[in-house]
Amino acid sequence: MTRILVIEDEKPMAESIKYSLEKEGYETGLAFDGPSGWRMFEEEHFDLLILDLMLPGLDGLEICKKVRQAGEVPVIMLTAKDSELDKVLGLELGADDYLTKPFGMRELLARTRAVLRRTSRVPTEAQSPRVLEGGDVSIDTGRHEVTVRGEVVEVPLIEYRLLQLFLKNPGRVLTREHLTNVGWEGEFYSQGKALDVHIRRLREKVEEDPASPRRVITVRGVGYRFEPRT
Ligand code: CA
Repeated sequence: MTRILVIEDEKPMAESIKYSLEKEGYETGLAFDGPSGWRMFEEEHFDLLILDLMLPGLDGLEICKKVRQAGEVPVIMLTAKDSELDKVLGLELGADDYLTKPFGMRELLARTRAVLRRTSRVPTEAQSPRVLEGGDVSIDTGRHEVTVRGEVVEVPLIEYRLLQLFLKNPGRVLTREHLTNVGWEGEFYSQGKALDVHIRRLREKVEEDPASPRRVITVRGVGYRFEPRT
């Protein structure tokens, strides 16, 4: 199943893109602002991103840059006028295609097919489960299974989401706010201690000695980082 993420703040436009894509058999994710769109992109697997340029919170240019840094998911950029398109082209952000509004859905579908055809990976790779690894810890995201030092361990959902985020960002400091947001899936909980409780439980599962953690490292005043090497 090909999955497409649409980030577009004009709701009627976003809904009609979603409708057209789903009619063609694509599975879609939909976000109406930059930050929640980026969060969806980070957490789920998508094969293509259809991205509006002018977005509240985090604009299309910023998202496009982050997507480029994160990997090889192709991007079709939507712009409101030709002058904006010039701006996008001038910045050479490496979007795979561009469409200027207003455009017809048929045009969008044709571009979508063309971009997917150009960028599609070999089928065996697309079908194999995605495995995230960091040292002796790994997640098989297809099976929702966590392995620590060769043994499968049971991990509750919030801790699973936290670990997934850590393994996607090895060595990078993740802020408390970001971890909380992801752990609780967008539902922001203000209870500051909840995160520490889940980190402690996660350490009990992944650390050889939870009392002196060498994987999930505290970064004082900021958050945590996952250390893939020991
Ligand atoms: Ca817009």
